[in-house]
Amino acid sequence: MPQDNFLVVPNEGVNLIWLDGSRGAVSFDHDRKLSVHAVRSDQVSKIAEQYVRQHTSGGVGIATVEDLRKQIWSRMFSIVDRLPGRLLAINGKAPGWSWLKVSAGGNTFKLDVAVTKRQWVDVSFRFLRHRVANGGTAPDTIHSPDDAANFVATLNWIYGPQTNISFDLWDAEWVTLRDAPHQPVGRDVFVKSIATQAPSGPDITVFLVGKWGGGASGHSRGTFFDDLDVAAIDDAPKRDEIPEPIDVFMLTMAHEILHYIRKERGFAGHHDRQNVLLSNKIQSLRMDKQLVMDVNPP
Ligand SMILES: [Zn+2]
Repeated sequence: MPQDNFLVVPNEGVNLIWLDGSRGAVSFDHDRKLSVHAVRSDQVSKIAEQYVRQHTSGGVGIATVEDLRKQIWSRMFSIVDRLPGRLLAINGKAPGWSWLKVSAGGNTFKLDVAVTKRQWVDVSFRFLRHRVANGGTAPDTIHSPDDAANFVATLNWIYGPQTNISFDLWDAEWVTLRDAPHQPVGRDVFVKSIATQAPSGPDITVFLVGKWGGGASGHSRGTFFDDLDVAAIDDAPKRDEIPEPIDVFMLTMAHEILHYIRKERGFAGHHDRQNVLLSNKIQSLRMDKQLVMDVNPP
């Protein structure tokens, strides 16, 4: 069940809701911006495929995406087997505000549905390393350009179903310094000799620098520089109050990128809504209705 009685559906795409624990007949009503149907077992493969493809652009063949596909298939099959008629596929037919009323087991609830157009963000990654004797190099970050496709697939999975924002990998390269940088990397050296090596072209460049020490208060995990459209991220951000099993590294990346997307729409800073991404309180990967309104309103 969606939280906030709110659901984002991509225009000309699909989102899914399952009705936990309800018994008896299910009926639903909605306007013409949506088409809704209960998923049958013979439709699970096709819908799971569409759902994964829609929300993991650029991730074809990546282990994370193949795992997701398997997880979604098995979860959808088990819901359809156990609770026939309780998994609903919601298709967006026209952008704008819509609604969906569902009655099941004597309960009725109404969801606000935002049918949104897809937005794209081009993202580059830069990985820090330095020269060593004999003409070789040594990495300063545990990550490498090979990880970039996985980062993008994961970002798409975080943002896609919740906001209908998708990421395209612009490029991923090493940045080679002449000497080993002091760790943690500070703000001055980052701005002077690292951020300057961002490519021109992508919307945002994310730098993996090893340990990040340049954050203002509340930004020890990473920092977005809104005048440069670059972000620096710590390799192993502190978990602090962020609940298991959330991946704190990917949460940090999603957080800094959200600063960029909100900036483009005229918003700055954080909010104080608990368990929502970009909160100055406890964060999760969840994006609530207000965030969706900030970044991709219907
Ligand atoms: Zn922040």
